[in-house]
This record gives sequence, structure tokens and C-alpha cells, in this order.
Amino acid sequence: MKISEIGEQALIKEIAALVASTADRDGVGIGDDAALARFADGAYVATSKDMLVEGVHFLLPGITAQDLGFKALAANLSDLAAMGARPRHAFVALALPAGTECEFVLDFFRGMMQLAEKYGIAVSGGDLVASPGPLAVSVTVQGEVRREQALLRRGARPGELICTTGSLGASAAGLTLLLQDMPCDDKVRAAALKAHFRPEPRVREGIWLAKSGAVTAAMDISDGLLKDIREIMEVNGCGALFYEEKIPVDPVARAVAAAAGRLPLDFALHGGEDYELLFTVPENAFEGLSGAYLAHFGRPLYALGRLTEEMRLQMVTKDGKWEELEFAGYRHF
Ligand SMILES: [Mg+2]
Repeated sequence: MKISEIGEQALIKEIAALVASTADRDGVGIGDDAALARFADGAYVATSKDMLVEGVHFLLPGITAQDLGFKALAANLSDLAAMGARPRHAFVALALPAGTECEFVLDFFRGMMQLAEKYGIAVSGGDLVASPGPLAVSVTVQGEVRREQALLRRGARPGELICTTGSLGASAAGLTLLLQDMPCDDKVRAAALKAHFRPEPRVREGIWLAKSGAVTAAMDISDGLLKDIREIMEVNGCGALFYEEKIPVDPVARAVAAAAGRLPLDFALHGGEDYELLFTVPENAFEGLSGAYLAHFGRPLYALGRLTEEMRLQMVTKDGKWEELEFAGYRHF
């Protein structure tokens, strides 16, 4: 059924019922002019907003409504994770082309709910409007964090190690499979597409790292390692040196790169949407931190380089050569 047949109010009622299980017990739920939320005493509210536009950030029918809902929330949660904040509320606005099916909208929220329920996030409000052009999605998330624990991009110093919470390049491998028709092992294809459509934001990891007190600067990897590290470099006035042999190239990226005749390292350095956390720690804190992290999460932290005094972006290759790195990732404008 089209939205025009059922009407906006009826559709909103269906959405409200769909997301009701996540409603904040202290809040008032959906249906008033604004949402009410209570935050812990002494907590700061961390807010992040993201917008996705059809034809720019995603293609239809290239992505399902459920995956789109999941991914839109995942990208936002990744930003809160990068601050070390505990996510609490999500607000969703959709601009929908005429003729959009109700089921598309409900599926969008069903996909989103899979993540919201996992992390106890209330879908607390939003808006639906008609779009004369493409479909657009805007999600705002709010979380809470103690001011002294909040992870910022500034605070890093030369000599500190550059780390990630996971391997890189699997999402770019998935995108490559979507854009190029090529033979590929079924398991590899499934893993690459999952990484691309259903990225797992490092919510618990970000909170854990913030509480550790060892992290000096953090952000999430959304545009690609080399583009994102530049943000850390610029705000802290330092350079970065990576060690090629320590870049955690995802096995899926290796497999797809081989099939596509591409370099696996390119997927890891330039591919975006990995949604791992990128952060810095003093060298003497890394061993203790990574040991405790491994014990807690069952996965390692990766130290892949270090910050340097000089404002340069460089890599020591596997055969010991020093190379200047160029950014070739996603450009927004
Ligand atoms: Mg970010």
C-alpha cells in the first residue's frame, strides 16, 4: 500500500507501535510534540547527526529498506562510540518520494530496530515528509558520557601509537562486489556484503576504551583510514607513520581484491565505512590496554602506526622503504 492511500498519521501510528518496545521507561514515547528523556546525573549529552541521500550515499534498489535502516543507525552509533558515549535515543526523519510503499518505511524501521534493541536505544521521534526528488534519511542520536571520560579528536601527541578496534577494507570489498560483476566465493561475497550493509558499530568498545582512561584521541573510520587519520593529524598538529605489515587488512578484502585485480592494501587504506574506532594511546599503555581488551572482548586491538612530529603522512613498506601516502578515498564535495 502507498503512503498516500493510508495517510501519514496512520503510518506514524504503525511506526510508533513497531518501535514501542524500545521506549524509554522514564520518557513519554512517540506521539507528543517533543520527546522527553532523562539522563544520568552528571552526564553530558553527546549528540550526533547524519544524513544519507539516495544517489549520493546509497542506491535503490541496491540496498534493501531493512539494511538502509540498520546502516543509517549504525553510522550514527559509530559516532557516539567514537566519543565513548552510551547511546540512549534516536530520532529519524525521512523524506520520501511520492509512491513510496508503506512497507518500505516499516521495513526501514524493522532494520533499525535490530540495532536499537541490541543496544537498548529508544527510537524517540522524528518526521516524515514528501520529497519531490530522491529519498533522504536523517538520523540523530543522543547518548551520555561523563565529561572527563569523553573521547575527543584532540589530545594526542607525537610518539603515541595509532590503533584500531578491528580489521579494515571489508566494507570496500562489499561495495566493489556491488559495482563490479565478478566471480567470487559465496562465503566471501556474503561476508563482504554483510560488512557493507550491516556494519557493527563499536558501541561497547568505545565505552570501554573511554573508561580505560588510556585513550588520548579517538574518532571512527567512516571515510577511510588515510582520510580520517588526517583529522587527528590536523587537530593535534602532528604527522602519522604507518607500518604496512601492521595494517589489519581484512581477509575478505584480500580475497575480493585478488578477484578484482586490486591491491588489498588499497581497500584497507582508502575504503570507507569500516566503522572501526581509530584512536591513539601512549606506547607504554598499549600492552596493558590491549591485553585487557582481548580478555574482555575476545578480539585484539591493532597498533598500526604512530604519530610523528612532522606534518607528513608516511608508511614503512614491508620491504623497509619509506613512502609518502596520498589520500585517494571518498570526497564529500
Ligand atoms: Mg565520525
